[in-house]
Amino acid sequence: MPADSNTKPKPKRRGGRAKGTPNRKYDRQPATLVRCRACGSTERSAYFSTTETAYEGTAPDGKPYTHIVRRRCACATCGQHRVEVAYENRRGKK
Ligand SMILES: [Zn+2]
Repeated sequence: MPADSNTKPKPKRRGGRAKGTPNRKYDRQPATLVRCRACGSTERSAYFSTTETAYEGTAPDGKPYTHIVRRRCACATCGQHRVEVAYENRRGKK
C-alpha cells in the first residue's frame, strides 16, 4: 500500500469569508481630521520625521494604547509646522 493512499488531498485555501458567514458590518467613522491651528487648513506636507515611543497608557478618548507616534509635517497652505500625535494600540498585532 502506497504511503500516501490514506492521506486526503489538502483542501485549497481560498481567500474571502467562509461559506455561510454573513458580511461584517462596519461602523463608519471619520478619522480624526487634523487642522492647522494657524489657518484652519487640513492640507499638509508629507510627514518628514516620525518618532515612535513604546509607552502604554490611556489616550484622551479613553482607549488604551501601547505606542505614541509623533509625525512632523507642515501646513501646505501657510507653512506652519506641527507635530501630529497619534496613540496606537498594537496589542495583539504580530
Ligand atoms: Zn496653515
